[in-house]
Amino acid sequence: MKYETMLNRFLNYVKFETRSDAKNFTIPSTPQQKDFLKMLQKELEELGLADIYLNDENCFLTATLPANTDKPYDKIGFIAHVDTADFNSVGIKPNVIENYDGKDIILNKEENIIMSVKDFPNLLNYAGQTLITTDGTTLLGADDKAGLVEIVEAIKYLLEHPEIEHGDIRIAFGPDEEIGRGADNFDAKHFATDYAYTMDGSVLGELQFESFNAAQITYKIKGVSVHPGTAKDKMKNANTIAVELAAMFPEKEVPEHTSGYEGFYLLHNMEARIEEASLTYIIRDFNKENFNKRKEFCKEVAKKINEKYDDVVEYDLFDQYYNMGDIIKSDKRSVNKAELAMRNLDITPIIIPIRGGTDGSKISYMGIPTPNIFVGGENFHGQYEFSCLEHMKKASDVIVEIAKLAKK
Ligand SMILES: [Zn+2]
Repeated sequence: MKYETMLNRFLNYVKFETRSDAKNFTIPSTPQQKDFLKMLQKELEELGLADIYLNDENCFLTATLPANTDKPYDKIGFIAHVDTADFNSVGIKPNVIENYDGKDIILNKEENIIMSVKDFPNLLNYAGQTLITTDGTTLLGADDKAGLVEIVEAIKYLLEHPEIEHGDIRIAFGPDEEIGRGADNFDAKHFATDYAYTMDGSVLGELQFESFNAAQITYKIKGVSVHPGTAKDKMKNANTIAVELAAMFPEKEVPEHTSGYEGFYLLHNMEARIEEASLTYIIRDFNKENFNKRKEFCKEVAKKINEKYDDVVEYDLFDQYYNMGDIIKSDKRSVNKAELAMRNLDITPIIIPIRGGTDGSKISYMGIPTPNIFVGGENFHGQYEFSCLEHMKKASDVIVEIAKLAKK
């Protein structure tokens, strides 16, 4: 059977608790990620890969499956992340459902947690397949342990099938993707591929090469608190100034009213008292020009408040990542080969922009065009997350097929 170790490998990986922590500024943000990386390192050693290196500084584990031919191939890479999203991940008990009947899934009988077809109509697409779900109390961690497994299994397959010719294939497993930090320290020079892929998408066929441009702004409003009885002409109420500031943002340009290529502002966090308030917005847009306009708008908002209330607002505005499409469009080999690989395997490519970012959004700007490929799971970052074994196998097939197509 093809990829016969895939299921057990996946069940093993998801049991490692590797939730990242945005509040912790070490690398990795949680020590368990490093423990898991060391386990992966051992697995890669057992497979017999070359150049295995766990970099203590950036916590990326890299390795090479060396070329088995002298023929010229593009040097390609596959990347996945070891951390899981900010959701309970202690005591993950995956549940395997073979030959899924297309009906509601009881995740947890005792706590009456049900994944219903009414709430998740996509379940109908999986009738007859093997699903892996949670017990309703944790996430599953298929994001991105499915990606890790698919890369390892594809590499193992290539090792077991030396008749399939390929060039050098690099792999990288890194930390802290979910908190948007891991790839900041990715060593693109050391990885040194012509292009690469993150295995970090969702449903079968997803192929993503456009992501948001992303920035974040935090406003700090300094109020003046005075006893309300004697506050006339003295009090500056940071609460109400915060409300006024928030009301200046366009009502419809928010995540809940936008889709496709539309950008938005999201009031992500807000704390307010009379003396001081802080508001954090994230700014997202696919188009660089609009992205810059949005940032200007955010500055303008502060300026207006400051004119009215005499310098009460300070802000901190910084860029987070950029649309990798702007890079990938100038060298489309990665996307073209992935698309062809899927078509060769009778998978219909779903080429849609990611309303978010991936590690590839940063790595592309380091000189390695890095689109994103499906891993065969859905409902990431919560207790309704599930994976489809057959689609995970197809993701490994895509990796193997790209390896073949990388021939110059
Ligand atoms: Zn992910």
